[in-house]
Amino acid sequence: MARNRKTAGAIIEKDGKFLLVKRNNTKTFEGYWGLPGGNLEEGENFEDAVKREIKEEVNLDFYPVPFRKYAEDFPQFSWKATAGFFFGKTNGNVKINGESSEFGWFLPREIKKMELAFNHKKIMEDFMEQKSKKILPKIFNSKILEARKISSDIKYIKFSVPGEFEFTPGQYLSVSRISDGKKLRTPYSIASSPGKGFAEFFIRIIDVGKASSYMGNLKKGDEIELFGPAGKFVIEESSKRKDLFFISNGTGITAFLSMISSVLEEGFGKKIILLAGFRNENEILCEKRLINLGKKFPNLE
Ligand SMILES: Cc1cc2nc3c(=O)[nH]c(=O)nc-3n(C[C@H](O)[C@H](O)[C@H](O)COP(=O)(O)OP(=O)(O)OC[C@H]3O[C@@H](n4cnc5c(N)ncnc54)[C@H](O)[C@@H]3O)c2cc1C
Repeated sequence: MARNRKTAGAIIEKDGKFLLVKRNNTKTFEGYWGLPGGNLEEGENFEDAVKREIKEEVNLDFYPVPFRKYAEDFPQFSWKATAGFFFGKTNGNVKINGESSEFGWFLPREIKKMELAFNHKKIMEDFMEQKSKKILPKIFNSKILEARKISSDIKYIKFSVPGEFEFTPGQYLSVSRISDGKKLRTPYSIASSPGKGFAEFFIRIIDVGKASSYMGNLKKGDEIELFGPAGKFVIEESSKRKDLFFISNGTGITAFLSMISSVLEEGFGKKIILLAGFRNENEILCEKRLINLGKKFPNLE
């Protein structure tokens, strides 16, 4: 059985065209065009690996922004991998090493007609779709506007987002922090609906939790680095023609708060039922907010 590898790849854009390399000297997809990248080395994370690979393979300094992780499974090559893809700015001029026989810059419509290595075509389609919807993840700084405990272990955080920030309800943002000299990111669902100029988290502060202790210390006026939006857990357009039924537990309700308030604000007319579980009465999240929403929109139960 093929072992599961880890690889990192880059989506590099210049003047509306994307960099592809023709694979050379390889047991997988030899002679195919594909996105540049390669295997992680021992002890390396995806981000460090993609920077190193892009320097080695195409001689560019790459400043990666995480895009998405994909599972690759190609039994014909005994190939299984988790592939982390990044996009971002580069510096320098392309010069290939022996891993590719050619490089080229291609328009999205040209890529559509090509057969690419691995699932790189799907990755490019996903990237172009998010780009056109303006929901590509970004790294940005944010200011804490409000931070308070709302129960013994739940903290409410309201924070600023850039004017152009867009997301689909259900998506999350990751909060960056430095631990032992390494940047770590912890995801939290966005609880507010889009277009407000701010966003909200509800965070369970776990005593022994590492991100929890960082989040627990945040106070009004602090600056944090965020990455996102990310995540595919969103309401599909086709589901908006039906009644919606949500079941959550604890802070799992946060993504639903965003989804429910935004579909109601958009004029959703069918029934919405929310079944939310909490450990005890003191931990019920956003009870008032939900009751008020239910008064304004009687189709919410
Ligand atoms: C897409 C996504 C969205 C998320 N959204 C939210 C959110 O809106 N609010 C939120 O609070 N968290 C959310 N989380 C969880 C969050 O990312 C962290 O995993 C969580 O805060 C614990 O991180 P930590 O570093 O504090 O704990 P860690 O240091 O990772 O864990 C410490 C210990 O606590 C245990 N532990 C971890 N989580 C829990 C828990 N919930 N209850 C009991 N024990 C636990 C671990 O197993 C471990 O033993 C989300 C996670 C994902 C993947």
